[in-house]
Amino acid sequence: MKGNLAALMVMLGKAPQKPKQITPPAQAIHLQKRTKKITKAEIEFIKNELKAVEAGKYRKKWRNRRWVSIITINLLFTLSFWLDIQLFEGSIIASRVLGFHMADIYSALQVVLAYKIMLINLVIGTVTVFIIWLLLGGRAFCSWVCPYHLLAEIAETIHLKLAAKKWVTEHSFHRGVRTVFFIAFSLLAFGLGYSLFNSINPVGMISRALVYGPGIAMVWILILFLFEVFYSRRAWCRYVCPMGLTYGLTGALSPLQITYNLSSCHHETACHIVCEVPHVLECVKKGRAGNVEVDVGADCTLCGACVDVCPTSSLRFEIKGLSHIS
Ligand code: SF4
Ligand code: SF4
Repeated sequence: MKGNLAALMVMLGKAPQKPKQITPPAQAIHLQKRTKKITKAEIEFIKNELKAVEAGKYRKKWRNRRWVSIITINLLFTLSFWLDIQLFEGSIIASRVLGFHMADIYSALQVVLAYKIMLINLVIGTVTVFIIWLLLGGRAFCSWVCPYHLLAEIAETIHLKLAAKKWVTEHSFHRGVRTVFFIAFSLLAFGLGYSLFNSINPVGMISRALVYGPGIAMVWILILFLFEVFYSRRAWCRYVCPMGLTYGLTGALSPLQITYNLSSCHHETACHIVCEVPHVLECVKKGRAGNVEVDVGADCTLCGACVDVCPTSSLRFEIKGLSHIS
């Protein structure tokens, strides 16, 4: 299960550990791989493959599907407002979609903590969103809906190009700071009676700007964008955003997930290069899978980049208990 205790601890910031137990079939495969000789030609092939991936040259089928999804969903809010047809009202954070109330779970929690009120529409909206993302994979919200994700992907592409030319250096932080931010924003809301997070959340800012037009808030978005281009790629999503963590927890029991198959894997770890949260792909490293089939951890955003980049289809979308999706 992708939401087991070990996976949840990794999502909160703990470093991934070796599995405590390795099943006999997985042990047999590990042994077979350890004793198998790799030819020079195979090593060269893998090196070239990794270079191509680092340069962004790989199939982007799922990336393209996601971008269509993000743009379409966000534009539906814009069009609905401009055409005054009231099908998609509000923003990604708090909305009424086809008459159903929707509220982002962490943003709603901020309102409850800050104003000490429990509005019925907020409860209905939060429960609706919880059920949707429990079924659809939790952090799939990030990759398939969140407008900031698209911007962060563009910033990351620029960052990687500049880094390849040695014009910028990547700075990373401990992943656990996201959990600290989650708690700190919650305590601040409760203590101040005001939601600092909702005031600086780029997701809400971009979503509202797309509907009602840009304002001074875009300066903050620009600062984040430049920070991610020149200093630390994906910094907001990786180290700050409590929404991402909340959706991760929401999707911990989701049937929709990425599944890894040990037997077909070549362990060249191209997936680690393209993954926003490579700690969920620890099982892909040689000797690290505890079973032949492993569920990728709950912090996975179901972006599909690893599915696109894997030459042996060892990583696949799966609806648990039903089928693989291609
Ligand atoms: S982590 Fe936050 S900002 Fe990043 S994609 Fe997810 S919801 Fe959006
Ligand atoms: S594991 Fe795969 S699908 Fe999940 S976030 Fe990483 S690249 Fe995307």
